[in-house]
Amino acid sequence: MTIKFKNSYADLPPKFYSKTNPSPVSNPSLILANSSLAQELGIPENWIRSQQAIDTFSGNKILSGSNPIAMVYAGHQFGHFVPQLGDGRALLLGECIDKLGNHRDIQLKGSGKTNYSRSGDGRSPIGPVIREYLVSEAMHALNIPTTRALAAVSTGDTVYRDTSFPGGILTRVAKSHVRIGTFEYFASLNDFESVQTLSDYCINRLYPDCLNSTDKYLTFLKSVVEKQINLIAKWMSVGFIHGVMNTDNISISGETIDFGPCAFMEAFNPNQVFSAIDANGRYRYSKQPEILLWNLMRLAETLLPLIDKNQEKAIEKVTVILKDFWPLFETNWLAILLKKIGFSTMKDNDDLFINELLALIESTHSDFTLSFRYLSNLLLDNPTSLPVPLPLFESEAFKKWVPRWKKRLESEPASFTDIASHMNKINPLFIPRNHLVEAAIQEAIQENKVDLMKTLNALWKQPFLPNETYEHYSYPATNENEVTTTFCGT
Ligand code: AMP
Ligand code: MG
Repeated sequence: MTIKFKNSYADLPPKFYSKTNPSPVSNPSLILANSSLAQELGIPENWIRSQQAIDTFSGNKILSGSNPIAMVYAGHQFGHFVPQLGDGRALLLGECIDKLGNHRDIQLKGSGKTNYSRSGDGRSPIGPVIREYLVSEAMHALNIPTTRALAAVSTGDTVYRDTSFPGGILTRVAKSHVRIGTFEYFASLNDFESVQTLSDYCINRLYPDCLNSTDKYLTFLKSVVEKQINLIAKWMSVGFIHGVMNTDNISISGETIDFGPCAFMEAFNPNQVFSAIDANGRYRYSKQPEILLWNLMRLAETLLPLIDKNQEKAIEKVTVILKDFWPLFETNWLAILLKKIGFSTMKDNDDLFINELLALIESTHSDFTLSFRYLSNLLLDNPTSLPVPLPLFESEAFKKWVPRWKKRLESEPASFTDIASHMNKINPLFIPRNHLVEAAIQEAIQENKVDLMKTLNALWKQPFLPNETYEHYSYPATNENEVTTTFCGT
């Protein structure tokens, strides 16, 4: 057997999902399959390119042991509660146990209508499939928790949006697809027995340490808060903007999920928004922690009756945890940013180095990624010349910052050369720049080719390593190829 399916979510009561088979497609072909992920999941590497695999990834064949279901959830979309969403274009085929013994969901995205499709067609154009494949795999290589891409197929069918597009299906792998919105679905129905079933499911699968706690649901909330804080701090440390931080797009496992109109910032602007559907900038770069706290409050509300039968007491307990949000976020953020500038420990006033540097990158409109990357150059006796101009490095204020920074680095145990090489393992050279993702999508749509997608996928697997051949892919967009708006593309 190729994938040994478990179906622990399908073993929950039927109100948690709706049993649905994928709708067949006319002419599936493989775009890309992920050998290293297959290996991690214990799936034979030679199988993922076989005809049987292509039939499975396109929904034309259901492997034995798989029990496809669409999961139900609700969610706050742009602040407004929608009582029922659910997998409208996705199907959970089942779980497999990876080499570390963890349950990993295997899900098709774009596999046809489900009970939760509402007015949607349950399909996906090829663009969002390519975007999610490239960006989620790049996030993984950047050491940021994320859902993964196991395979992408084209369906041979046409998908209609504002115009027609070739259709595609992504096979996505997640530690779990339970979202804050899944909790909200049952809580809004006053079905707290199901909230408890769901909590127990998540604790057993994702947070087994909570089982040792006397207050296990409170500890569960605390664990999710910590995981999510760490995730968002990591996003922001590489300039990532998720774009649609609705509660249905916030995973309980702490993985980045649902890559819609997401993008990496180039010139540093805390107010940066890319998403075409985010007119008011609700999900702009700098607002992501505040929105996360808001989302975690929605999760906390659903858990109150489990935490204490006395509502006031429950609120008190939850408040203690949520009050810690900002100090915890600041600590996480600072710890990551200090490493980016070569500090191994935090000393008094170290935060000033970060805040001043960020203000300078912003005021000089310099590229966020390259500003951090080329800092290490300043520690070398023979620095390489900058491949692209960085206004930061010309700024008088920055020229005054550098000697102070170097003086502080002298108190570090490592040599400047070692610090520089360590910084280069943290500050990426290659990130999924929007114009490149877009170029790969356009090549697939217009020329029916995925060469650029494959090149970028290979390059972004090693985001910290210099690469002479593809050095130009480390450069920010020019006025000609800049992409300023991103779309969900659903
Ligand atoms: P998103 O914000 O892209 O994660 O999607 C929000 C909701 O809309 C989810 O419940 C999706 O399942 C649903 N949805 C998005 N696109 C489609 C589609 N093409 N057909 C059916 N449902 C969809
Ligand atoms: Mg979603």
